[in-house]
Amino acid sequence: MLSTLRFMFFTIVALGLIFCAVVMTILNTYKPIYRTYINDRFVGYFLNEQQFDEVYNDLVAEKQSIDQNVKVYLDSEPTFEKCYIRDSLLSEQNIYTNLRAEIKTEYTIYNVAVNGENKMVFSTEDDANKYAENLKSEVDTLDTQVNMEKVSTLGEITSFDRADAILEDLVARNKPVELPEPEPEPEPSYYIPPTTYSGPIVPDLTGERCWPTVSRAVNCDYWGYYGHNGVDLKASIGTDVYAYAGGTVTFAGWDSSGYGNCVKINHGNNVVTIYGHCSQLYVYAGQQVTAGQLIAASGNTGNTTGPHLHFEVRVNNIAINPWVYLNQI
Ligand SMILES: [Zn+2]
Repeated sequence: MLSTLRFMFFTIVALGLIFCAVVMTILNTYKPIYRTYINDRFVGYFLNEQQFDEVYNDLVAEKQSIDQNVKVYLDSEPTFEKCYIRDSLLSEQNIYTNLRAEIKTEYTIYNVAVNGENKMVFSTEDDANKYAENLKSEVDTLDTQVNMEKVSTLGEITSFDRADAILEDLVARNKPVELPEPEPEPEPSYYIPPTTYSGPIVPDLTGERCWPTVSRAVNCDYWGYYGHNGVDLKASIGTDVYAYAGGTVTFAGWDSSGYGNCVKINHGNNVVTIYGHCSQLYVYAGQQVTAGQLIAASGNTGNTTGPHLHFEVRVNNIAINPWVYLNQI
């Protein structure tokens, strides 16, 4: 009887030990774990939510090491489903790789656009502004702008060396060419008279007027040298000479005082015009002429240093500045 009880006792102990061993084995092999999903996609087995957060934060730090301003996020919150799996499955999985594939990123980049075309990309607004400002200060004709853009993957960021080269190239292509200072206009070989007259009040003439020859160029003005009391107009030998205004020819011939062949016309009110140094005379004393009538051909007779028309105006036989009348044309 005793031996039977002892046998039963040991049997129960043995069975109890076997049971415990089986339970221990099962517990060691199958662990409670969380099957984790994002957007219904399986991303791995996590021991708990805390482990998920640790892995997630590691991955955020990994992205931020590339760009500290990157926005990292998941499409949706993870869901955890408790289950039991074998140890071997845990060691086979790579939760970093799985979760990395689910992580979304949003990078903020700053494009430097020149005339609407992106030329440089920076990860900070300051860098982009710096290059945009540099370019604007060098070439203000270019439309240079900094545009912010959100992108999910980070493309190539322009290195400063590359940006410097691009800037240099843009400046070289677009900087306005600085033209050398234009040569100053050469001084005219003839004198251009003032258009204001300051002198005695002279009689008005009525009727038409005519410039006394073809050219308006002045070789030597009234009092261009001491005692020069007419205006020398540019004219070669044989150039037409015209009556300034209508009147009566009072002299047409040789003048020995220096005018050479000359014509004098009285326009009334003792206003007389004189045309000196002529080569030919086409009118005679006493003849009535009209303004613009051909009266002579210019030349270099008399006291001259070269061909020209000496035009002189006398009022009461006193030479006055001819511009008071010439300016009326
Ligand atoms: Zn003269």
